[in-house]
Amino acid sequence: ILTRKPKNIAVETNPSHELNVVDTDVPEPGPDDCLIHVRATGICGSDVHFWKAGNIGDSVIRCNLGLGHESAGIVVKTGSKVSRLKVGDRVALECGIPCSKPTCDACRTGRYNACPEIIFYSSPPVHGTLRRYHVHPEAWLHPLPDNISYEEGALLEPLSVALAGIERSGLRLGNPLVICGAGPIGMVSLLAAHAAGAAPIVITDLDENRLKMAKSLVPRVRTVQIQRGDDAKTSAERIKQALGREAKLVIECTGVESSIHTGIYASQFGGTVFVIGVGKDFQQIPFMHASFREIDIRFLFRYRETYPKAIMLVSEGLINLKPLVTHRFTLEEGRDAFEAASKPAAKAVKVQLLDD
Ligand code: NAD
Ligand code: ZN
Repeated sequence: ILTRKPKNIAVETNPSHELNVVDTDVPEPGPDDCLIHVRATGICGSDVHFWKAGNIGDSVIRCNLGLGHESAGIVVKTGSKVSRLKVGDRVALECGIPCSKPTCDACRTGRYNACPEIIFYSSPPVHGTLRRYHVHPEAWLHPLPDNISYEEGALLEPLSVALAGIERSGLRLGNPLVICGAGPIGMVSLLAAHAAGAAPIVITDLDENRLKMAKSLVPRVRTVQIQRGDDAKTSAERIKQALGREAKLVIECTGVESSIHTGIYASQFGGTVFVIGVGKDFQQIPFMHASFREIDIRFLFRYRETYPKAIMLVSEGLINLKPLVTHRFTLEEGRDAFEAASKPAAKAVKVQLLDD
């Protein structure tokens, strides 16, 4: 299988904000690893941010960094101790690898996304999975059923974020829900919340096209286009009108301060604003409003134990991820792919790089 495509092409950025399609060595799997031919990888907002800004918080690019962490592929070689997987198996790649030591509280108690020693592919200095061949620990590869494509397999990563959010937010059947932001994370949150029985649902965005796509994914969703100049209270009034009431739960998927304010103002007494979006280091909140109305403001850091659930939901037909991929490129077209993912004029939702 390897001789057909000898080059291990990867998409990398560097401290000078360049984006390069490079030719790297094909790595050897260790005893517990599999060599994966990566067949589909989605571009995440964080990949674009690392390229353009050179950092996300304290995570700073100081040398060449391979991007990408939304991937699915096929096993082409197995390490000597690999027992569960074999060559030819199709898999989704979970890209946060915790230490799994019994002495690690986070790992031992199942909260492995909090492992202080976790390595995350595409977070400096660890290369990402946007490459043809990538070595991955067997334990963090999730077999894909035949009815899940590589493109959908790669989308299990953002879906994992949404499932972790839904789980932590405590969403229940019949909860009136507002989703702020109809980017890929808002869209997968919409699909997951729809499957989980939230009703009614309002989704917001600044961009009309994204709201149109949300509506095509879940026809019963009510959309509110946020106007840039409007203050948060005005936007909240429009949202409450569309919802027909105040929100029990707001799932915030922008990280933008004014949108978080809007979510807080749209919440009912005792409601929850569940913030998936990440943004500025320091943000103000309408403190007294939240205090007088016992509004819970909660956060999410990635996900844990979501892949098996995500695979089941897609395989069983409760969540259809296929329409989210709007742009497809080859690995060689890595630069074009990142242009499409970063330029609003391209109207992309999810851009993927495919290799066969
Ligand atoms: P995205 O930038 O593609 O989407 C954000 C959307 O919000 C855009 O469509 C934008 O038009 C819209 N928006 C901007 N300002 C708005 C406003 N005031 N009101 C309504 N909509 C507004 O990003 P994404 O890939 O969908 O990710 C969403 C957020 O989730 C990002 O902040 C990302 O970093 C974060 N994220 C967090 C985690 C986590 O573990 N907590 C994981 C993945 C992504
Ligand atoms: Zn650990």
